[in-house]
Amino acid sequence: MPELPEVETTVRGLRSVLEGERLAEVTPRRADLRRAIPADLRQRLTGARVIGLGRRAKYGLIYTDRGDTLIFHLGMSGRWRVDPADIGTHDHLLITTEAGRQLSLNDPRRFGSLDIIETDALAQFGPFQAMGPEPLGDDLSVDYLARVLEGRLAPIKALLLDQRIVAGLGNIYVCEALNLARIAPGKPGGQIGRPKLKALVEAIRMVLEAAILAGGSTLRDYARPDGELGYFSTQWRVYGREGEACPCGGIVARRADGGRSTFFCPKCQR
Ligand SMILES: [Zn+2]
Repeated sequence: MPELPEVETTVRGLRSVLEGERLAEVTPRRADLRRAIPADLRQRLTGARVIGLGRRAKYGLIYTDRGDTLIFHLGMSGRWRVDPADIGTHDHLLITTEAGRQLSLNDPRRFGSLDIIETDALAQFGPFQAMGPEPLGDDLSVDYLARVLEGRLAPIKALLLDQRIVAGLGNIYVCEALNLARIAPGKPGGQIGRPKLKALVEAIRMVLEAAILAGGSTLRDYARPDGELGYFSTQWRVYGREGEACPCGGIVARRADGGRSTFFCPKCQR
């Protein structure tokens, strides 16, 4: 599943193709993905100029000069293809720029989404309404975490996966950040002192930024020719490494919780 770093790299790649460009043709090739594609999406985007691109959590944002924003989510298997040689059944939205470049949103499992919202009303877009701060932004601070975690008895891992507390963090990056910050995943959120919270904020940024850097800077790097959406960094510290050595010399353990696995090191994570 594309996580925040993959979405960030996608947005950076799309920026090189779309920024400042007029959209000559916009063609949805089906009526829905995870939910309906807005019926007026084609009309609102065709002829519009892209004035910027951005990201909120795992949503990509494409701003136009008509005051609209196209919001895309890659779901489980989505990716943008650049100047595809052929169009297949899983290419659900085609965009051709006035400069002659073509983009295709390809999503075999169709868990992704496409929405078009007035830019001024973005904060009212359903998924954004109760969303916490961006993990790479200044709003995620020690003060912020100390305030929202105060008195919380839930495990820190579950709290970090709660999009209302921090936006866009997935299981892999939470496991990695907790290992780097040496915090046990099951520790109650309210019992983590400020020095550890400082380490946690830094660890979250480090694991995400390392993954973004590993992703390269172009969409071509991102969308591998075989069409597989791989994670950029396969050298995780603990994720997927049960029984192997943690950098501290301890042995990585795995615990099933819900449908996910938690990977952690019982020796250094307290
Ligand atoms: Zn360890």
